[in-house]
Amino acid sequence: MKHGIGIAGIAGRMGQMLVQEVAAAGAPLSGGVDRPGVNDIGAAALFSDITGLAEASEVVIDFTHASTVRVHSRAMARAGTPWIVGTTGLSAEDEAALQEAGKTIPIVYAPNFSPGVNLVLALAEKMAAALPAARYDAEIVEMHHRQKVDAPSGTAIGLGQAVARGRGVVLADVMESGRDGHTGARKDGAIGFSAMRGGQVVGEHTLLFAAADEHIAITHRAFDRRVFAAGAVRAALWVRGKSPGVYSMMDVLGMGV
Ligand code: NAD
Repeated sequence: MKHGIGIAGIAGRMGQMLVQEVAAAGAPLSGGVDRPGVNDIGAAALFSDITGLAEASEVVIDFTHASTVRVHSRAMARAGTPWIVGTTGLSAEDEAALQEAGKTIPIVYAPNFSPGVNLVLALAEKMAAALPAARYDAEIVEMHHRQKVDAPSGTAIGLGQAVARGRGVVLADVMESGRDGHTGARKDGAIGFSAMRGGQVVGEHTLLFAAADEHIAITHRAFDRRVFAAGAVRAALWVRGKSPGVYSMMDVLGMGV
């Protein structure tokens, strides 16, 4: 019988925070999975693979690594268990596998589970629609801790996608990331990305619209990764009983379009 919330990546920074937040929400924990050889996960039950965890859990929260997404997509769909995905750095193939699983199970997939960032995403789209791309250059600057493995961050890409939606363009067509050397002048309508890595910064994102005569910037700073864990647990409680599909944190917060 399925019972409780399972955590994939339970030994990780987010995984350990999720164990605390599941308890804080008064929800039962079914257990977790991590990489082979990782055994130190505290008192929770350790499953040998994602299939075992999916079959034992009412919902699985997954903060692991992009390399897991295709295997986890198939296992979660086969088990028919709702899935909360916080993992970032997904390739187009990973995203396609996740969308395919969304035909069978409800999934909440968010590059950032903080309520504040999701509000910024909504504002970003509105601002981009109001500020002409030819006059207002959009730049996204992010900083994270030195252990982060992907860049730009999933949240930075989410911000870029929100700006692109507001402008009616596709991000991949206008994205300028990791400028270095003789890059030539900035293209009209480009959405620029810069990533800093250092120390133990939990997550900082600034979206800047720079015109010749004014700058407008919105900054979000996360001081504690608990904000992501609490949001993911909120999504896990929300997703129960939902129809198959891929939902966003905006849907969980009631801000979906
Ligand atoms: P971490 O490295 O501390 O934890 C990841 C855990 O996943 C580790 O314990 C690792 O052993 C485990 N893992 C890796 N491959 C696995 C596999 N094949 N099977 C099972 N477990 C596996 O990293 P973290 O800081 O906890 O972040 C995890 C992911 O969550 C990253 O992709 C990060 O960018 C993302 N993240 C998302 C949000 C959000 O709000 N969506 C917030 C913070 C972090």
